[in-house]
Amino acid sequence: MQAFRFNRESVPYRALSASLWPLIFAASMTGSHFAFESGHPIFWFNVVYLATIAVIALFERIMPYEPSWLEPDGETFNNVAHTLVTKGLTQIAAAVTTSFPMLFATVAQPALQHSYSFWPSEAPMFVQAVLGLVIAEFGLYFAHRLSHERLLLWRFHALHHSVERLWVLNTGRFHFVDSLIKMLLGQLPLYLLGAPLPVFLWLGAASVFIGLLTHCNIDMRTGLLDRIFTTPCIHRWHHSRDLREGNTNYCENIVIWDQVFGTYHNPARPSSTDIGISGTIDRSFFDQIIQPFSKAGVRRILGKPPRKTSRDESERQET
Ligand SMILES: [Zn+2]
Ligand SMILES: [Zn+2]
Repeated sequence: MQAFRFNRESVPYRALSASLWPLIFAASMTGSHFAFESGHPIFWFNVVYLATIAVIALFERIMPYEPSWLEPDGETFNNVAHTLVTKGLTQIAAAVTTSFPMLFATVAQPALQHSYSFWPSEAPMFVQAVLGLVIAEFGLYFAHRLSHERLLLWRFHALHHSVERLWVLNTGRFHFVDSLIKMLLGQLPLYLLGAPLPVFLWLGAASVFIGLLTHCNIDMRTGLLDRIFTTPCIHRWHHSRDLREGNTNYCENIVIWDQVFGTYHNPARPSSTDIGISGTIDRSFFDQIIQPFSKAGVRRILGKPPRKTSRDESERQET
């Protein structure tokens, strides 16, 4: 399907381009509010989630950042399959979140009861949610940064970076081990501080919708938002094949810790469209799941030639 082309410099286009990120985020968070207030929060939250994906996919067609990324790359099935596995894990984590504080309180009281006093439960929920976002982001920042700096973790995270186009369905393309590590480091501090369940729900909603927007291929002018949130512009630099650009912008939702630790990257030019990794990820979903667990698989991820076996050596000597 040929993308409809707007005049990118026209005033209506620029206005739409500047307002889409806040509009979609505000609409999806408002939808989440009604979902959480309803009698079937999980069902209605998933309706809001799918509707947001549909809206983003539509605008990717109407006003793409990189038109060539509209072409199929053969990875759509795998992207959806990895998303479903990751979402399944998130649901399990949500169930654990529900029961863990109660379990913890039952087992550890009264000795550890005072630890809950660290959480400002009396503050407005908005303040608690923002605090939760900043604290969770600290764990997410280090989980993500270590995933780039340590081979032990990069073997799992490379799957997310192996795509050569960014669009809304890349958002959930994470190896399940990668997702588990992030969930653990992101949420553990909140468990230990005794954050209540609504904080986890709002944090989960904000992460889901910021994540969808982060990977979208819409030409969004995010300006000042780039200094607060992980926007598509900020995250495209992180997906750059050039590691001087790629080893930056590790934050998932808000950029505070990149700014604190000096890894924030936002030069005044269009962000990179040359994205991907130097190695190779296997083609099928199942192979992508098991590839990081074998030495030969890791060599392919790193772009190294297969190691010669002793049999190869003996065959070479015989010839
Ligand atoms: Zn990354
Ligand atoms: Zn990404």
